[in-house]
Amino acid sequence: DRIVGGQAQEEDMYVSPSVRPQIISDYIGQQAVRDQLQLSISAAKMRGEHLDHVLLYGPPGLGKTTLSHIIAQEMGVTLRQTSGPVIEKPGDLAAILTRLEPHDVLFVDEIHRLSPIVEEVLYPAMEDFQIDIVIGDGPAAQSVKIDIPPFTLVGATTRAGLLTSPLRDRFGIVQRLEFYSVEELSQIIRRSANILGIESDDRGAIEIAKRSRGTPRIANRLLRRVRDYAQVKGNGIVTAEIADAALNLLEVDPLGLDKMDRRLLELLIHKFEGRPVGIDSISTALGEERGTIEDVIEPFLVQHGFLVRTPRGRVVTGHAYTHLGLENPEKELF
Ligand code: ADP
Repeated sequence: DRIVGGQAQEEDMYVSPSVRPQIISDYIGQQAVRDQLQLSISAAKMRGEHLDHVLLYGPPGLGKTTLSHIIAQEMGVTLRQTSGPVIEKPGDLAAILTRLEPHDVLFVDEIHRLSPIVEEVLYPAMEDFQIDIVIGDGPAAQSVKIDIPPFTLVGATTRAGLLTSPLRDRFGIVQRLEFYSVEELSQIIRRSANILGIESDDRGAIEIAKRSRGTPRIANRLLRRVRDYAQVKGNGIVTAEIADAALNLLEVDPLGLDKMDRRLLELLIHKFEGRPVGIDSISTALGEERGTIEDVIEPFLVQHGFLVRTPRGRVVTGHAYTHLGLENPEKELF
């Protein structure tokens, strides 16, 4: 597991309940998303209705699950949580839907991974709060319509592009989560440090924030690692110097790139000599799955201008050469 990977790791699971914001005022950043949701939630509550279905998309670790908890909390309803790959059969989904209370929030993580037959059940459920269930087998099989309580589906995905359009069209509210600024991440780190009883100064929090790839989950993880270092090598206090030394030891560089990022950039620079390269060639050369490269490695590199996606393939930028301390061959051209 990469220390700077956005996906949840086992150790995150133990700590995450304690540091996960429970109320909207503790949810830092994502101002536009919060404003939009607060408006829709207030309107739904004034009408005494369920909240429209919400689709949240963006890279892992940016707070989609957290936001679904907060939506349920703000609506004053129960949250039911599941994920695309877990719902194997239409009957699994029917069982979940029929057990909901009116206005409950059903959170479906990785919603792009629902199977087509399960999706079919979801369409009328989302639109008319009805499901069609087939009872019996063979010629005696009968389809019955069952009413389910009006509910809110909160779907989360790292890849909005992989959603089928009938599914995407059934969400009234579609919000994309953005990477967090260093200032927002350092607020998150200070809050988590408080909760976990970690002593940290402002510069220490900023140093960790700068190396957290815009991602709260990574910020919280790096904070815990830096705390270990501070205890063993320092006096327990997370300062900028301690954070720098701890993260250097973990090979997380000053901008949050790790070995995997550097391998990708170096591959494009040395092996492909800066030419545009297709994602499949990159995947083969790195021995990494295409999906991992697209979802986990690339978004941050693209966002920070190390890499651009062009119709002809991925291209490294001058910024990548500079960051790796290499001469940029294009430089003389300009
Ligand atoms: P996702 O579902 O997008 O993968 P999560 O909602 O599980 O991400 O968030 C990962 C962790 O990051 C959470 O446990 C939480 O502690 C922290 N986190 C996420 N967003 C925020 C935020 N806006 N403010 C504070 N902490 C956050």
